[in-house]
Amino acid sequence: MTWQVATVKDIREESVAARSLVLDVPEWPGHFAGQHVDVRLTAPDGYAAQRSYSLASAAVAAAGYAASEVEIMVQRIPRGEVSPWLCDVAQVGDQIEVRGPVGGYFVWDPSRTEPVLLLAGGSGVAPLMAMIRTRREAGSRVPFRLVYSVRDPDTLIYGDELNRRVRDDQGLDVTIVYTRQTPPGWRRPAGRLTGDLLTEAGWPASMSPASFVCGPTGFVEATANLLVAAGHDAAWIRTERFGPTS
Ligand SMILES: Cc1cc2nc3c(=O)[nH]c(=O)nc-3n(C[C@H](O)[C@H](O)[C@H](O)COP(=O)(O)OP(=O)(O)OC[C@H]3O[C@@H](n4cnc5c(N)ncnc54)[C@H](O)[C@@H]3O)c2cc1C
Repeated sequence: MTWQVATVKDIREESVAARSLVLDVPEWPGHFAGQHVDVRLTAPDGYAAQRSYSLASAAVAAAGYAASEVEIMVQRIPRGEVSPWLCDVAQVGDQIEVRGPVGGYFVWDPSRTEPVLLLAGGSGVAPLMAMIRTRREAGSRVPFRLVYSVRDPDTLIYGDELNRRVRDDQGLDVTIVYTRQTPPGWRRPAGRLTGDLLTEAGWPASMSPASFVCGPTGFVEATANLLVAAGHDAAWIRTERFGPTS
């Protein structure tokens, strides 16, 4: 894998602290839903910092995107080296270096037929959104359930798109779990994902779903443990931790 120069083609604000960036990567070889790219920023004095970002765009041709365009979604980490630049400074037309796609384990292939359970904590929704978008673009009818844990309504990412897809993408269910503060009149009090909630919003272990868990390390470990405690086969649980990469 070699570094390539990518051009920022479009930027969308997704929440108070996250934005999507569409990157044009001329030699993009294609990717699977769930893979990531390495992004390298180099300062004028030559200092370089490199971080990983999941590919959020569909893994198959999607309307409105050229074959060379991929999307990432970056959540600002206060005092971080790379994410504040991508969230606050990067503009359409800027050039950055990328390398990828990377990873072959945390991937969903649209030719698979088992039901899928997606469990996201915060920005961990990015590769799971790639799977949701890929499902739609590939015409898959596999039932998908997303359980998405966020701190409060301000940090919800892809809120409008998820609402639209629940309406339009047949067989997709989404459950949002607010851990600290809910929107007014929300059906559940704020709190962490529990085994009971997972039973209600996920698939039973007897259906042998493929489960993908992504987010901060603590979220991933707690959630994978809940799945195992509910009888899910560990071999069907794939995890991706968004810990520090520096
Ligand atoms: C495979 C993979 C895929 C990833 N995909 C995404 C993605 O799609 N979107 C996204 O926003 N991020 C993603 N990340 C995280 C990303 O790579 C960076 O770690 C993150 O953007 C912080 O980088 P930074 O340079 O801003 O902070 P740094 O300068 O690396 O760190 C600043 C401080 O914040 C802490 N910190 C670093 N990262 C995190 C974090 N994720 N959560 C909490 N504290 C942290 C550090 O310990 C340090 O104290 C992914 C990570 C991995 C390993």
